[in-house]
Amino acid sequence: MSSDCLFCKIARKEIPAKIVYEDDEIFAFEDISPQAPTHILICPKKHFASLNDASAEHQSVLGKLQLTAAQIARERNLLDGYRTVINSGRGAGQSVFHLHLHLLGGRSFRWPPG
Ligand code: AMP
Ligand code: ZN
Repeated sequence: MSSDCLFCKIARKEIPAKIVYEDDEIFAFEDISPQAPTHILICPKKHFASLNDASAEHQSVLGKLQLTAAQIARERNLLDGYRTVINSGRGAGQSVFHLHLHLLGGRSFRWPPG
């Protein structure tokens, strides 16, 4: 846990968020500025800043983020497709340095992303 990290504060319930899933390792909540009808952020509870800071000890939780995204997508009937995204580094648009996976769905998406 990092005392001044926004997503650690959400994990500790010090900042309100619409949490849609939580277990002992991860939590998921609605993005405050949704870019699609479904836009959920899925995070490890244990703080690490980005994929650049990940190592073998994070392998299991990184897989769990993706599998949880797929589960939420099934529950929400995102039948036409959905996208999971991890922005890594400022050049890729990362603005919160607590690793998180975006789950976006409910609209069509272009490729390549901007
Ligand atoms: P990224 O730019 O990949 O680091 O994603 C950070 C995401 O966090 C953005 O989509 C923001 O809209 C979202 N965000 C920032 N502050 C909050 C908050 N307090 N609650 C929920 N989502 C947030
Ligand atoms: Zn954090």
